[in-house]
Amino acid sequence: MDRNYDVVVVGAGPAGSAAAESCAKAGLSVLLIEEQAHIGVPVQCAGLLSCSAFDECRVSTRSVLNTVSGAMVTTENATLSFDAGKTKAYVVDRALLDQEMGYAAADAGAEIQLKTLAYALDHHRHRLQVRGQRGLEEIRYRVLIAADGPRATIGRMAGLPRALVYLSGLQCDLAYETDQNKVAIYPNASPEFFGWVIPIGDGRARVGMCGITNVREKFERFLSGFGSQHVQFVSGTIPLGTLKNTVAEGIMVAGDAAAMAKPTSGGGVYTGIRAARHAAAVATLACDVERTDPAFLSAYESRWRGDIGKELKIGYAAFKYRQQITQTEMEQIISVMSSPDIRDLIVQKGDMDRPGRLLQSLLLHPSMYRAGGIFLRSAIRSIIR
Ligand SMILES: Cc1cc2nc3c(=O)[nH]c(=O)nc-3n(C[C@H](O)[C@H](O)[C@H](O)COP(=O)(O)OP(=O)(O)OC[C@H]3O[C@@H](n4cnc5c(N)ncnc54)[C@H](O)[C@@H]3O)c2cc1C
Repeated sequence: MDRNYDVVVVGAGPAGSAAAESCAKAGLSVLLIEEQAHIGVPVQCAGLLSCSAFDECRVSTRSVLNTVSGAMVTTENATLSFDAGKTKAYVVDRALLDQEMGYAAADAGAEIQLKTLAYALDHHRHRLQVRGQRGLEEIRYRVLIAADGPRATIGRMAGLPRALVYLSGLQCDLAYETDQNKVAIYPNASPEFFGWVIPIGDGRARVGMCGITNVREKFERFLSGFGSQHVQFVSGTIPLGTLKNTVAEGIMVAGDAAAMAKPTSGGGVYTGIRAARHAAAVATLACDVERTDPAFLSAYESRWRGDIGKELKIGYAAFKYRQQITQTEMEQIISVMSSPDIRDLIVQKGDMDRPGRLLQSLLLHPSMYRAGGIFLRSAIRSIIR
């Protein structure tokens, strides 16, 4: 028997649940499909959310494990440390957070179907094939919001482009005493991105890294400095280089499925939810006026680009520069940046979700003159290579 919905959302991560909740609240009939039996599992995240990212989730503090107020960027010979003296980010249990967002979608009236995989699509006829706990089914929709994460199956089936880069991430939770107020960043542990140590309270920390090549070897080397009492292991992918086109007939793509994570940090919860809510607003309009063609849905593209597009662009340029910076140059940049005036600037203007403003201010700051030379050298290298 055919089932019919105004909106089908594929993927019950933060982006999918936020989209489903918003559409259901707007009075649309909504089906949220998730291939896993439990929302939020397996966890593929370090769980570090800025205060504004956490606010975007609209959840209770039940998932919060710890709060942090500063960071320490460290290499073998240089350290830059700063502390805002107030909470700048939450460390959360992503499984609990995602589950709470799923409950919110259900409470708003979205139907949730777990253990169900969306595997085929006829987007011109607005039909999705799924298989799972109810067997094989064809589901009809007016609008489909693809929030299906890094694999981005729906976008590929609709002929949309792919991300430009895929980062691999590995992480363990382990017993490790560290400053509970600060996240530690290790740029040279993974020269294509960085390694991290995030305090999660009770004498434990989350040790992880993202990179592009030989990530497992680099991670094992990094991890060997932190003992062997691992209790959680996380592996995942972060697509970067946001899709050039995020709409097709009846379809809008949001979150990791559209490679919307911030290329400077890999954080994708804030941007994914922001985009998902734009998609939900456009889906509501589309159902209202019965227009689901790409020209109409391109309003979604304009909305998310107007909101987070510039940050993602600047972030991707910074990510490309980062690929050219050698380990010695990284040491030099960190020592230049550890001057008190730069640390003040970071505390004043640092915004994990919108790092563009800080990056621009840093590049214009007189104390960064020496670092400017390094950036210039790396820029020339990137042109020559
Ligand atoms: C190691 C690591 C650390 C990270 N740390 C952070 C961090 O500290 N802070 C932060 O903000 N971000 C972090 N991220 C990124 C963050 O986890 C993602 O950006 C975020 O989860 C994206 O949300 P989403 O809803 O778009 O996709 P996802 O959370 O990936 O959700 C997609 C959902 O779709 C489901 N699905 C996929 N395909 C189908 C299908 N065909 N049918 C049905 N269901 C399907 C999946 O099971 C999944 O539940 C990290 C990522 C990694 C890998």
